[in-house]
Amino acid sequence: MSKKKDYYDVLGVDKRASADELKKSYRQLAIKYHPDKNPNNPEAEELFKEAAEAYEVLSNPEKRKIYDQYGHQGLSGGGFGGSGFNGFEDIISHFQDIFSGAGGGGFSSGFGDDIFGSTRTRGRKGTNLRIKLRLTLQEIAEGAEKKIKVKRHTSCKSCKGTGAKNGTAQKTCNTCGGNGQVRRVVNTMMGQMMTTATCPTCDGEGKMIEQKCETCSGDGRSLEEEVIPIRVPAGVTEGMQLSMQQKGNMPPRGGIPGDLLIVIEEEPHPELHREGKNVVYELKISFVDATLGVEEQIVPTISGTDKIRIPPGTQAGEIIRLRKKGIQDIEGYEKGDQLIYVSVWIPKNISKRERELLEELRNSHNFAPKIEKSDKSFLGKIRDFFGL
Ligand SMILES: [Zn+2]
Ligand SMILES: [Zn+2]
Repeated sequence: MSKKKDYYDVLGVDKRASADELKKSYRQLAIKYHPDKNPNNPEAEELFKEAAEAYEVLSNPEKRKIYDQYGHQGLSGGGFGGSGFNGFEDIISHFQDIFSGAGGGGFSSGFGDDIFGSTRTRGRKGTNLRIKLRLTLQEIAEGAEKKIKVKRHTSCKSCKGTGAKNGTAQKTCNTCGGNGQVRRVVNTMMGQMMTTATCPTCDGEGKMIEQKCETCSGDGRSLEEEVIPIRVPAGVTEGMQLSMQQKGNMPPRGGIPGDLLIVIEEEPHPELHREGKNVVYELKISFVDATLGVEEQIVPTISGTDKIRIPPGTQAGEIIRLRKKGIQDIEGYEKGDQLIYVSVWIPKNISKRERELLEELRNSHNFAPKIEKSDKSFLGKIRDFFGL
């Protein structure tokens, strides 16, 4: 196999091309190499596919980011990247989605029926399914393999998705001749005009069922519960949406399934607080421990616990950093840290004996606060803390 072409080269655009520029360039190529305009031309078909794949990746900001950073390599595998196309019809349908929907910029009015009339019914796409996936901080930090149960419309097994009773044929719609659209010449004051509308007989499908399948009553689908394994990459964030192509609902009577959209929810950790790729833990110690230090202080981490040393003379507000104990950055290979914010806890109720000991210490000159020039300001510490 030959080496894969650079997506920007395929579309003939600059690396900094805007969304509009990408779309414009893709549109030109798609028109030029569209199979309906280049019948029996495998070379044009290949170029058309290439352009569609390049546009599919570069028009998706997340995929584009990954591609910019890691090239083709970054998009293969992992379950979420790469080209989601399953075949030629899928590309055509994708192409239609882009240019015939809202904001299509009038493409279909110029080429509409000639290009799309024949592919209309082939490229129908089902609805997307959206589910929430709740993850613990540990799962977010390490990435997770999950099995999710979804109820989705799949092809009816009895009729293989056609909606027609076993063995009976689907006949071409008489009204539209299989086009799914009806045209009418209307006389207006401006002269004759051609109008196009969805065929009312077949509802745009181009086909009619003579005898309905008994299992699905002609719908061509059945609602099935399915367990879908997914691999969640490390570093996802609350509200992030992962999409699995064609794991959504099947449209009635054949076509391409919609996508399964997985929306990430973060389960709050009882003790650790996430701050981007870092995690923050507030450690409360007594002023005695702060003064004398602690050899083995146990602190919670994402994966369990860790032992740290509190040096003698630790100030309240000091931050101890556990390197690489944070969360993997989703955009790169960098791993965050765990920051332990030391806070000194002061008791409210003390015994008579404790009071005596403290009164004794009160006048000791070592207990009078000393301001050292090297001390960072309060604000400086806060800035360091959040990496500003
Ligand atoms: Zn029809
Ligand atoms: Zn059926």
